Amino acid sequence: MLQVKEQLTCDVLIIGGGIAGLMAAVGAAEKGASVIVAEKADTRRSGSGATGNDHFLCYLPEYHGDNKKEIIQEMEESQIGGCCDPELFELFADLSGDQVREWHSWGIDMKPRGDWEFTGHAKPGRPRIFLKYAGHNQKAVLTREAKKRNVRILNHHLLNQILLNDEGQVAGAVCLDVTEDIPSVQIIACRSLIMCTGNTTRLYLPKTAGWMFNTANCPACTGVGRASAYRIGARLINLDMPHTHAGPKYFNRCGKATWIGVYKSMDGKPVGPFVKKPTRELGDITGDIWMEMFEMRRKAGEPVFMDCTETSPEDLEYMMWGLSNEGNTSTLDYMKEEGIDLRRHMIEFQQFEPILVGRGIEVDKKCASNVPGLYAAGEETGNFRGDIGGSATFGRLAGTCAAEYALKNRSQASPELKKLPVVQESLDFYEQLFTRADGTGHPGWKEANVALGQIMNDYAGLEVRSENMFKAGLIYLRRLREKTRNILACTNSHDFMRCLEVLDLMEVGELVMLCGRERRECRGKHVRVDFPFTNPLNNNKFLQIQKVSGEPVLTWRNKR
Ligand SMILES: Cc1cc2nc3c(=O)[nH]c(=O)nc-3n(C[C@H](O)[C@H](O)[C@H](O)COP(=O)(O)OP(=O)(O)OC[C@H]3O[C@@H](n4cnc5c(N)ncnc54)[C@H](O)[C@@H]3O)c2cc1C
Repeated sequence: MLQVKEQLTCDVLIIGGGIAGLMAAVGAAEKGASVIVAEKADTRRSGSGATGNDHFLCYLPEYHGDNKKEIIQEMEESQIGGCCDPELFELFADLSGDQVREWHSWGIDMKPRGDWEFTGHAKPGRPRIFLKYAGHNQKAVLTREAKKRNVRILNHHLLNQILLNDEGQVAGAVCLDVTEDIPSVQIIACRSLIMCTGNTTRLYLPKTAGWMFNTANCPACTGVGRASAYRIGARLINLDMPHTHAGPKYFNRCGKATWIGVYKSMDGKPVGPFVKKPTRELGDITGDIWMEMFEMRRKAGEPVFMDCTETSPEDLEYMMWGLSNEGNTSTLDYMKEEGIDLRRHMIEFQQFEPILVGRGIEVDKKCASNVPGLYAAGEETGNFRGDIGGSATFGRLAGTCAAEYALKNRSQASPELKKLPVVQESLDFYEQLFTRADGTGHPGWKEANVALGQIMNDYAGLEVRSENMFKAGLIYLRRLREKTRNILACTNSHDFMRCLEVLDLMEVGELVMLCGRERRECRGKHVRVDFPFTNPLNNNKFLQIQKVSGEPVLTWRNKR
């Protein structure tokens, strides 16, 4: 039997100590709430912002002037736009400047060259919305700020289930402590819970098939927030719209906009219309606007390269500094080791596998979901995306609002959650995963993860989507999921964690297929060969999915 530790209690439980999670912790603690952060890894170096970032989306009146409307429009038309509710953009614009100034005061250098500087991710003649900053130390600083406010951080604790009380309000969570070789169960009672577990990697197979963890974003972000929220009735949104990033080929790391060069074909011709010569101010935004170009041109037999050979020495130095602040130090080390000299060599780029980012839990202007007591922030949310800027700003807001909710409900006694049927079922299942590992050949999580990725790539991928592909894909995926639940096995904490991740991913994959099947049109990277047009009736609409009486229910709503 896995050991069940004594139940912990707090006002606000935050799942995931990435950028949004740590900022939520700060916001909630400042309101006077007792706060626990349960983080799968270690908050000092976890999540997609683990090793740093260098572009912070924001509206900064002292730089942009009174131009808020124009800035919001530019955000909507940037790579993070398309799936956001306008009311959330408006709110973000109002709050993001304060967030920038606060980070700066804490020692994350938001003015590394003395003044506000907006470079990269920019279109010629249009306002610039990404502040260039030096984010290499951001996780250490945010961890320190959370601890200063008495936040309790439980590293190596991963969420598996959210628990509700009889009134349907969030009451706590089942987490697993994977610090030791054999896991133990940590049940945490809370009055509100903020989900901040990032995006979904390892749902699709990455471009380097043998290396499942060679992903552009954090490979430990595996959809638990979406899956566990869906199970308790939260509405998810925009799951049908795949997002893909791009970057150096086979070296799957984000960081496209930090490069200062021009996308070119092998014979040295620019492939996009925006810049002909490298510029530090703009970068080459072709990769943001037309990310499919890498794949489209590859299919036409034309690889695309980032060419920095005409970049000035000062701009090259600036770019290398940017890449190291963005945590792309392994890319820099690799180039050094292999003798790759950007003054002479072009670097081939590619489009990466789809992830769900800014597709997930639907929230309102208080970052609250439709389930009382459940909040979400960061890449987890379905109707807003703002990457680092969005995760920091709405993380803090989610913390404030979740704390206000929790403090109002403080008089409610914390129930003994271990007795809930869902907890008992979970404990039985964890036990089975270990007892099955009896040497009789039960498969492990890797086989299951690869099989999932194959089905997702082929039946809900970027190339072909159609009614019959989704129908077939759903049959295969459901069979795989059932079989996996029945035969998967593990022998230690690490593999146990991976087993739970794969099962969450399978649940999310099924929801992606259901939503993709419902969207009978082409939109963005959702390409239906049986409905090869964009339906104008859906222009202003989002697709939601929610579990009602045990069944998925799909609905459309207008953007707010
Ligand atoms: C190399 C790179 C460069 C980037 N550059 C930029 C940039 O310059 N500008 C920009 O705006 N964005 C950039 N991004 C994206 C940016 O890092 C993310 O948008 C941001 O980190 C999202 O914050 P988040 O809190 O939502 O998720 P994350 O920071 O990913 O945090 C999620 C956390 O949840 C934890 N977790 C996952 N599952 C569980 C579980 N079951 N239980 C408990 N905890 C769990 C994870 O360990 C992680 O700590 C970049 C990303 C990468 C990879």
